[in-house]
Amino acid sequence: MPNYRPYTKRQLEMALRLIGKVAYVEVAPLSIEAWSTREPVSYADRCTGAPRSLEIGDTWGDLFDCAWFHFTGEIPAAAAGQHVVLLINVNGELCVFDDDGVPVRGLTPVASQYDFSLGAPGKRVLEVSDAAKGGEPIDIWADAGYNDLFGNVSGSGAIEQAAVAICNDEVRALYYDFEVLLDFLNTLPEAGPRYQQVLAGLTSVTHALYEGLPNVASRARAILKPLLAQRGGDPSLEISAVGHAHMDLAWLWPIRETKRKGARTFSTAVELAERYPDYIFGASQPQYFQWMKDAHPELYAKMKALVAAGRMEPQGAMWVEADTNVSGGEALVRQVLHGKRFFKEEFDVDIDYLWLPDVFGYSAALPQILAKAGVTVFSTQKLSWSLINTFPHQSFKWQGIDGSQVLTHMLPEETYNSPAAPRSVRKIEQNYKDSGISHHSLMVFGIGDGGGGPGVEHLERLARIKNLAGLSPVKQESAADFFKKWRVEADRFPTWVGELYLERHEGTLTTEAGNKRYNRKMELALRGLEWRAVVADRLAGTSYPQDRLTDIWREVLLYQFHDILPGSSIKRVYDESLERYAAMYDEVDTLSTERDAAIAALVDTEGMVSPAVVQNDLSWARTEWLLVDDAWVLAEVPSMGYVTVDAGPHSPEVAELTATATCLENDCLTVTFAADGGIASIYDKQLEREMIPEGEVANRLVVFVDLGDAWDFPMDYAEQTPRRMALVSSEARVDGPLAVLTQTYRIGHSELTQEIVLASGSKRLDFATKARWRETATMLRTQFPVAVHAEEATYEIQFGHIKRPTHRNTTWDLARDEVAAHKWVDLSQRDFGAALINDSKYGHKIKDNVIDLNLLRSAFYPGANRERDKVYPAGEPHLGYTDQCDHEFTYAFYPHEGDAVEGGVIEEAYALNVPLTVTPVTPHAGSAPRSVSWVSLDTPNVVIEAVKQAEDGNDVIVRLYEAGGTSADALLTLNFPVDSIFEADLMENVIGDLAVADGAVRLPFTPFEIKTLRIKLGA
Ligand SMILES: [Zn+2]
Repeated sequence: MPNYRPYTKRQLEMALRLIGKVAYVEVAPLSIEAWSTREPVSYADRCTGAPRSLEIGDTWGDLFDCAWFHFTGEIPAAAAGQHVVLLINVNGELCVFDDDGVPVRGLTPVASQYDFSLGAPGKRVLEVSDAAKGGEPIDIWADAGYNDLFGNVSGSGAIEQAAVAICNDEVRALYYDFEVLLDFLNTLPEAGPRYQQVLAGLTSVTHALYEGLPNVASRARAILKPLLAQRGGDPSLEISAVGHAHMDLAWLWPIRETKRKGARTFSTAVELAERYPDYIFGASQPQYFQWMKDAHPELYAKMKALVAAGRMEPQGAMWVEADTNVSGGEALVRQVLHGKRFFKEEFDVDIDYLWLPDVFGYSAALPQILAKAGVTVFSTQKLSWSLINTFPHQSFKWQGIDGSQVLTHMLPEETYNSPAAPRSVRKIEQNYKDSGISHHSLMVFGIGDGGGGPGVEHLERLARIKNLAGLSPVKQESAADFFKKWRVEADRFPTWVGELYLERHEGTLTTEAGNKRYNRKMELALRGLEWRAVVADRLAGTSYPQDRLTDIWREVLLYQFHDILPGSSIKRVYDESLERYAAMYDEVDTLSTERDAAIAALVDTEGMVSPAVVQNDLSWARTEWLLVDDAWVLAEVPSMGYVTVDAGPHSPEVAELTATATCLENDCLTVTFAADGGIASIYDKQLEREMIPEGEVANRLVVFVDLGDAWDFPMDYAEQTPRRMALVSSEARVDGPLAVLTQTYRIGHSELTQEIVLASGSKRLDFATKARWRETATMLRTQFPVAVHAEEATYEIQFGHIKRPTHRNTTWDLARDEVAAHKWVDLSQRDFGAALINDSKYGHKIKDNVIDLNLLRSAFYPGANRERDKVYPAGEPHLGYTDQCDHEFTYAFYPHEGDAVEGGVIEEAYALNVPLTVTPVTPHAGSAPRSVSWVSLDTPNVVIEAVKQAEDGNDVIVRLYEAGGTSADALLTLNFPVDSIFEADLMENVIGDLAVADGAVRLPFTPFEIKTLRIKLGA
């Protein structure tokens, strides 16, 4: 046919839209009544307040308002024998309930904000009857949220559709036949016969459409049938597809809306699983399941049945999809411990893979944590978001700081919201970097981030692309089944060593400082409580608060979700989390104080004047100054134990201290201040070294313009000349063993006060800081140039530390400009160095010889985005920006001999974060000695990170790790009656027994090794 002129692709797209319009035909309107409230009410209380009659075109609330909608009407007689549905779009998210108050289907606004390259996210079709009789009444209740998937009011914001409609099944089927082949056509080389034949088929259908739908639908389908029926041969790549609805547990909406999103998402998954026998839906995050169990037990029972039938897959090993930059080491262990235990208890499944598709970078501590919890596979896609370098692998072995490895699959499609279309398959084929050695890849399809999940369209497409000639075959199966097939090829996978750094979102190490501070405080407060509770339980007969610890831990784990802890949620999320953190912190503090008091009551203090029991939660002895009953004492406290001090009789001698507006001096350091308040010199008397380079000044509080959002600040920010906070007052004093300089700085309407403290006998210079922060679109940092030359700096991460370059030689070095560290960073040459320690900060940068810490960011989005354009009185917090509040944090400069490990940085950083606790008592007789060490180690650098009661009984769990990056042979001595000690995995299962002699056990460690002991205590 030499003159054959096919239709253009644009004309084919128009034809597709035409078919789509005819698939559903409205036949009768629905009446709408709604009861609205600011916050959700249950099905039972759905008629709260006064009802409103609503019409198409009406708006019905403000963002995040709630309403129960009541839709009523009748199927017209003319629809008899037809497939009848309801079409509903109220421009809010809806969950339809049945007459028993059980969620049965979610509906999503058609105009919902979304990445439309992945398809449209709307869901507006509610099934009513495959063959209606005509005359049946319609009476439907639905729980609505006045928000779209992404926490906005999209489109018109008005009710757009509420009608009874007839579904023309043949036209609907033609729509998906045509859509799949058109999408397929776009992936084919034009020169090939398959392209030409598909194009000819689609063109023929377009011609046929002139005869009119719906009558021509069957004939049009017959034209396309052979094209869809053509099968592929032996595949080079097999794709496993699992349904998903990535659920951000809070983000652009509050947690309460996530719980409602869960009902919409899971009820949709249940309904579609009943209609599509191939469909397997996967969902991660036990917290999310727990919410369904609590709020919708009948829906949860259906979910359980689907899991048992292999149609719904509980995914991933953590309690939530947690941030792994800021979350502490023990918290990551608890994520896996609570996550895996929940799925085992509820569904009898043992999850052996971690599912974190959206987390902003992955700590090099993770492989060991996973491997020791029976998690052998890790899956994500987030590194495809990196801005500078393309991550080279998608199927690889990921090796952590201790040498542990997990197999990793990074989705080649680079999304967890796959449209499951031919173009998805083609992207996987073309983008799979390891397809030379791997014949298997995973596709994760559905509408996600705000939930929703797969719709009919995904499943109709998958039904057509199971094995289409010209495309790799796609099989719906669980992620677990995929990993089983895929890992068979793992011998040939390449290895990636160290962190999986996301070259993006560095601002999330700093944004929402209050939340990050509470997270650190809660992690350590829980550490303190668990350990005390174990001791007090045995010694003083208090009971171990297992249930409270479980609940509080799980809530702390929830707030480590990857849009909460990083600071990328809206303001309401933080208003709520901060309130809860405060209440939880108080509760943990009270429970700890009660236990300290119970132990102190047993200690013999008879004859003392003003006694106090001082407890040390760290696994080495400490000597520190303490204020007890208004008197300074130098307490020498044994490891994980207590000492009784008497503040009464005499004050100890203090070496000479100097404190003036320009100088702090003790027996170790002389610190000289410049006129602007910065530090011109830190002279280490013991090392006879100057720490600050000639002509440079440390601790300058610099303020950069930061026009970024919660996630990102401009990468070139440092090219600005920053403003400096101006020193407005300096006040010096000597307070017992402390030399203190109090400096107050101002900029704009913000004020910052630092108590700079040097304690007698200590080389640690503390900067205890309080800030009233009012600057908008800014970033506050402090910088310490040091007289150290080193190509690498050391950064503490969970259960160890890593080294990163101080130069920017390659694009990989350049991309890691701002990086995560926990309690300390260090820049050392072979003979000496300096550490910067902190109690709640994470965003660090060490370039050349400057240690630089990000202190605060005021970013405008998402925060309270809608407040941004409001005008606030000068000096008042601008609620359109993050971190407009009062802040407290401490950092410390610590010069030392040797490197970080030799120089005692690990111990100093723990000491700053885990202060000694003081329990004053009145003198009394007692049965317990005045000083006890319950647990001790004979080796430096082995750290006890947790002592707790086992999750499943009265055994005691002790978790230790080698923190120095060296081999160690540690003797652990327990001052308890011990029956037996076993080595356990992180799930607290026994994996071997250990020889105990005189209550002590010898433990060999490899560098950064985590060990868990399970101890049966004796009588
Ligand atoms: Zn997410």
